[in-house]
Amino acid sequence: MEKKSFNAFEMAKKQFDSAAEMLELDEATRDLLRTPMKEFHFSIPITMDDGSKKVFRGFRCIHNDARGPAKGGIRFHPQETIDTVRALSMWMTWKTSVADIPLGGGKGGVICDPHNLTKREQEQICRGWVRQIYKNVGPFTDIPAPDVMTNPQHMLWMLDEYEIITGKKQPGFITGKPVGMGGSLGRTEATGYGVIITIREALKKLSLKAKDTTMSIQGFGNVSQYAIELYTQMGGKVICVSCWDQKDEKSFSFKKESGVNLTELKNITDQFGGIDKARAKELGYDILDGDQWLFQEVDILIPAAIENQITEENVENISSKVKIIAEGANGPTTPEADKIIESKDIFLIPDFLANAGGVICSYFEQVQCNMNYFWTKDEVLGKLDQKMTYAFNSVYQFSTKNSMTMRVSANIMAIEKVVDACKARGWV
Ligand code: GLU
Repeated sequence: MEKKSFNAFEMAKKQFDSAAEMLELDEATRDLLRTPMKEFHFSIPITMDDGSKKVFRGFRCIHNDARGPAKGGIRFHPQETIDTVRALSMWMTWKTSVADIPLGGGKGGVICDPHNLTKREQEQICRGWVRQIYKNVGPFTDIPAPDVMTNPQHMLWMLDEYEIITGKKQPGFITGKPVGMGGSLGRTEATGYGVIITIREALKKLSLKAKDTTMSIQGFGNVSQYAIELYTQMGGKVICVSCWDQKDEKSFSFKKESGVNLTELKNITDQFGGIDKARAKELGYDILDGDQWLFQEVDILIPAAIENQITEENVENISSKVKIIAEGANGPTTPEADKIIESKDIFLIPDFLANAGGVICSYFEQVQCNMNYFWTKDEVLGKLDQKMTYAFNSVYQFSTKNSMTMRVSANIMAIEKVVDACKARGWV
């Protein structure tokens, strides 16, 4: 899926530079915010199940922590690069800022493919990652979480290693833990539900009702599954889902005009969100090429897989029926494609606003861990709804007041708050 020429960090810097121009930021402030403040590169040696030794490369970037401890996930991906982690850490800074939670931005990664690793090998990578970086992360410095191809079990192994090394129980070290082991109810649902909350608000602005709309979605992992769940509960119909096929090393789109059935699809999906093609066919799904999800005649599109998916090459083929794009993934749209989306008059809800639900709930998880008192799922989801709705409407108001797109508005609002924090601390 990833195209060679694409560099997420270049894209993140480009977005930052144009906001910096608009905000007329001074040179030192631009210098500070254009790159992560700290980054770590390290090796993780592992004994594989067959007894051989293998070394994996790991990263962690802290982009900015002026507003609070850095926060952000850890990705396991075979094409992971330090530049991707840098970009994602920057986007986390803007995300925590726009969501108005007292945290900064960080991101981590390991170059590995969990599809080809046993559970024990994955556990070794998790523990090894913590062993290399434990001095520079922690509940008051930088708090990791799940991201692409990492899950609550990975978080628990990481927590366990951290607690063994530090000799204390510190559940606030990491979020996205399993429920009952310091995890928050609602955390698994949070990102996908959050995306739909922003869509619900956008529909109101466009005077549309969910029950009169259709959707197509890229990805069938955690974000996508819960997005489908809530949108369907609101009466909407998802007609197409695309996902990566590990065996064929390409993606496919699964289409059912009458509406996909979430439970049915989940039953034939592996732990990484790969849908079984043969069984899907038996269930009446049309199996199309991977990028077909993007060209469907629907009202709403959600890219919820990885970065660099809506590009100059495919954006023109988006149907004129599409009214909303909500970015469930981080960085799915290139700046070139962005301009074309704007000219098509599509209402785009930018990534770090649309998918902020995950980190908002991570923040709630930390608060609950610190109090050692856990809320009910309804309480968590109610607070999530409040935060997401408020963030969406603040950006929307700014965008209408200043005649700017949602992306530019979110960028400016988020960056300005981080700049103020850096200045208040006397850094720049
Ligand atoms: N990985 C998620 C994100 O990109 C969640 C991060 C977190 O919970 O810290 O927002």
